[in-house]
Amino acid sequence: MLDRISDKFTDVIRSISGQARISEKNIEDAVEEIKIALLEADVNLRVVRRFVNRTIQEAKGDAVLKAVSPSQQFIKIINDRMVQLLGDTRQELQLKGPDTTSVILLYGLQGSGKTTTSVKLALELKNQGRRPMLAAADLVRPAAIQQLMILGEQHGIPVVADEKAKDPSKVAKSALQRAKKEQFDVLIVDTAGRMQADLDLMKELQGIKKVVDPVEALLVADAMTGQAAVDIAKTFHDQIGLTGVILTKFDSDTRGGAALSIKSITDQPIKYIGTGEKITDIEPFYPERIASRILGMGDVVSLVEKAQEAFDEQEAIELQKKMMSASFTLADYLDQFKKMKKMGSVESMLGMIPGLKAQEAAEAVDEGEMKREEAILLSMTLKERDNHLIIGPSRRKRIAKGSGTSVYDVNKLLKKFEKMRLMMKKMTKNKKYQQQLMRQFGG
Ligand code: GDP
Repeated sequence: MLDRISDKFTDVIRSISGQARISEKNIEDAVEEIKIALLEADVNLRVVRRFVNRTIQEAKGDAVLKAVSPSQQFIKIINDRMVQLLGDTRQELQLKGPDTTSVILLYGLQGSGKTTTSVKLALELKNQGRRPMLAAADLVRPAAIQQLMILGEQHGIPVVADEKAKDPSKVAKSALQRAKKEQFDVLIVDTAGRMQADLDLMKELQGIKKVVDPVEALLVADAMTGQAAVDIAKTFHDQIGLTGVILTKFDSDTRGGAALSIKSITDQPIKYIGTGEKITDIEPFYPERIASRILGMGDVVSLVEKAQEAFDEQEAIELQKKMMSASFTLADYLDQFKKMKKMGSVESMLGMIPGLKAQEAAEAVDEGEMKREEAILLSMTLKERDNHLIIGPSRRKRIAKGSGTSVYDVNKLLKKFEKMRLMMKKMTKNKKYQQQLMRQFGG
């Protein structure tokens, strides 16, 4: 995610922060580096020019050159400018109260991830306590209706579809009537995509928009297409009017050009990002957090929130007790793997830690090793997980076979686990550490 641009910016920030004094020449050099990084990231040229000019203008003022800590001031300016490019503050969906049906229309070109995103968004809203319904108004792409119905069913979201329908406006209209009658408070309409934004498509979408009067008309755009995504957003906004953008495939976008240009060029905010192929891989878009990630200052807030979601408070207190009494078992260890999965890949988590470049983060963990360890733990019986001391040579052999690993791997995991327990014992004897744990878990 944004690896390439983040690496460049991290380098610039590192070189600035090492300096006690800054000259105008330093500022010009740093801004030149930033300019190259933005152009390489496929950021719109106009946007780059504006960014560069404003940054230079502000940085050459007295506030920086005469500041007590000029490098920090300069970094702050770069950060603020970056946040501004990304859209300043988080823009929420403008949904009405739960006793009316709010319609969300999703537009997008074929393959942008529209159908997947419809279900992702529905599930996200359902998790927030809403009652969403989906409407299959993409009558162009073969199998789009089927795809939506299957995904909807898998995640408990009702889907209105009519495989024989010819007119998408009619499908949307009858879906809205049903949603209202059955008191669904959100209706998400998946519309047809095309290979390009042609006149036919625009007419069709205008027709649908007219009959359902949406509170949100969101463009689903593929972040990996960079400037093309921005051009498409502009066309859609000019022709039918958007209220925002969802950028998909953000997980695979190393450059960031679309994210950094959309707001300036279309004046429409990015409301969500798609961060993977799984249905839960969707996140609200926070300009400040993404800016910090790009500047290599880490995204500590996101990390903490993810951890909080994955660890229920009560569970955390239980875990803490177990750690303190050293009754931490292999079953608890396995449980941690499940939580880690909820938080996303280890690599993406490490990418949020300040000062760590994406590449370095990837090298710091061995996800293969984690998968091996999980397979080993899953091959153990409940009894073995509760008491690792009973795992003798023949059990080790059986576990290795069952998990497709070797006895060496099983031994390695058990040794590591013993060491962990020993460390926990030592740490929990330390008063200061105990207090820190208490604070961390809110105990
Ligand atoms: P549609 O033609 O716009 O309806 O596109 P689909 O919803 O069928 O998605 C096209 C492909 O993109 C599928 O393989 C999806 O799994 C994939 N996809 C969608 N969103 C994301 C995302 O945020 N990240 C990644 N990596 N893949 C995505």
